[in-house]
Amino acid sequence: MSEYSLVGSHLRDVDPELGHLIDEEMERQSTSLQLIASENFTSLAVMEATASVLTNKYSEGYPGKRYYGGNSTVDKVETLAIDRLKSLFKAPHANVQPHSGANANAAVYFALLKPGETVLAMRLDQGGHLTHGSPVNFSGQLYNFVGYGVTPKGPGGEVIDLDNLHALAREHQPKMIVVGATAYSRVIEIDRVRDIADEVGSLVMFDAAHVAGLIAAGIYPNPLFKKDGSKGADVVTFTTHKTLRGPRGGAIVSHDEYGAAIDKALFPGFQGGPLENTIAAKAVAFLEALTPEFRSYQEKVVENAKAFAKELETRGFRVVSGGTDTHLILVDLQSFDIDLSGKQAQEVLDRAGITCNRNQIPGDPRSPFVTSGLRFGTAAMTTAKMGVKEMSIVAEYIAAALQKREDEGEIKRIREEVRSLCLTFPPPFLAK
Ligand SMILES: *Cc1c(COP(=O)(O)O)cnc(C)c1O
Repeated sequence: MSEYSLVGSHLRDVDPELGHLIDEEMERQSTSLQLIASENFTSLAVMEATASVLTNKYSEGYPGKRYYGGNSTVDKVETLAIDRLKSLFKAPHANVQPHSGANANAAVYFALLKPGETVLAMRLDQGGHLTHGSPVNFSGQLYNFVGYGVTPKGPGGEVIDLDNLHALAREHQPKMIVVGATAYSRVIEIDRVRDIADEVGSLVMFDAAHVAGLIAAGIYPNPLFKKDGSKGADVVTFTTHKTLRGPRGGAIVSHDEYGAAIDKALFPGFQGGPLENTIAAKAVAFLEALTPEFRSYQEKVVENAKAFAKELETRGFRVVSGGTDTHLILVDLQSFDIDLSGKQAQEVLDRAGITCNRNQIPGDPRSPFVTSGLRFGTAAMTTAKMGVKEMSIVAEYIAAALQKREDEGEIKRIREEVRSLCLTFPPPFLAK
């Protein structure tokens, strides 16, 4: 048995091969640095709910309106998740059944758009997500997506170009404007987007996949509302497993008038039976997110991200937009080493035990597969209780590994230092 084993005796007896693989992944997660901006470590309570008997139940439909019998307890579970989510987002309506963020977006499009209708969303090479109109995704094939981007680089630059968004909205008269991104580190204010949408008669969907935890904690503006409390985005979709620190999954909150259409689009329109074990785990995560501890966790996530961005800049990396307001940092490698691609950097860092992902930067001269950038996030490191001091240490590991990438001995040395740092800051599944 490895010292990391969480695998119970049943799995070990029935399927030792798989049990061993889970041990192996557990060791990876606890001895290397998890800097992927869309990842986090859930609590053991969330993991227990995910592994519960609720996985055995079929419950197509919604609380009080199920197709099969035996759902009175499941109804209470799902209602608890819905009620907690509504209070977290001050949302008139909530749906906790999406299996993922992509499914949440698909359901909203299916509910509110007809195939072929025009949608304005952030271009993928500027930070948008696959489900925001990529030609290889259903969204780009079923709907007519038009892309907006960020302003040119320079002081105060590389932020969403709202004037361009406004001009495109006037020109294309979209049925929906999508805001929210997958590689964008600045706060997106809903007020101006709502005003533009009102001018052209468009709906607004905010994809909060990355920032849902920050919104829940009240340190990122809730996109459902404008500053004056009036309606902001019509619908907000998100994942529950990124900053929100719940199980893998999605959710949708909205103003009342869209609730019935969204529920119907998700089931029976798009998904089959809900994953009630995952919904139970979402309920646990929402409860955790309602606590003052969660707010201070998210404050530390952002504090760490700001410190990490500065430490990277000090070592010659250009941070896109000059910093971050969130958990996410997008780095332009060209200032550090013009010959170093994102792909190569990601591979070097992997060998040093530093897990991150390559990412295009705005105006990237390289392809999406190669890229000139790296994306980092501080959500998981902060869950492991690392602070500003560790951000400086980690930035130094990154710079050293990339500088000395031809020196196998040096990479090995950094790998060992990373391992001992991680053992000092264990994830919750190992923490005493
Ligand atoms: C991660 C992400 C999604 C998709 O979430 P999945 O759970 O991977 O399907 C959608 N939109 C944005 C902006 C994301 O960052």
